[in-house]
Amino acid sequence: MIKKFRSYICVPSKGNYARGENRPKVDCILCSIAERNPEVQQKIVYENKDYMVVLNIYPYNPGHLLIFPIRHVEDFEELSSEEVSGLFLLTQKSVRLLKEVYHPHGFNIGVNQGEAAGASVKHFHIQVVPRYHSEIGFMETINGTRVVVETLDETLRKLRSKASILD
Ligand SMILES: [Zn+2]
Repeated sequence: MIKKFRSYICVPSKGNYARGENRPKVDCILCSIAERNPEVQQKIVYENKDYMVVLNIYPYNPGHLLIFPIRHVEDFEELSSEEVSGLFLLTQKSVRLLKEVYHPHGFNIGVNQGEAAGASVKHFHIQVVPRYHSEIGFMETINGTRVVVETLDETLRKLRSKASILD
């Protein structure tokens, strides 16, 4: 019998994370990224004086972004109105960037606040995840390319090459 295998996007580091291995021992992962702490993996797509856009290093899909204020803020209601508008504008531009690079069919755009809501990082951040009608083998529909694994550095290179969209 001939088995037909479908290609899929594989995120090999996810298992380690779920088991609590390889998690850096720092107070706040997002502050550590903003401070360029060398003990923390930093995949910075964009930054300005107030905000950062980084790759989630345990992505749901390639291009899974975290958008956050550099100032350590935990709760949505602690953000100033200027920060709310700054973060949402940057989120909107991030969606444009992902459309330009990955042509996804949809997005999850959201915030988890509090452990009960599934937040594993207290520092306020907005997540943007590109989504596809068929997430198994979906890369075959883009440029006819079969992609099994995209490394974080490949994702970073692609997004940084168009990061002027975020300015
Ligand atoms: Zn923080």
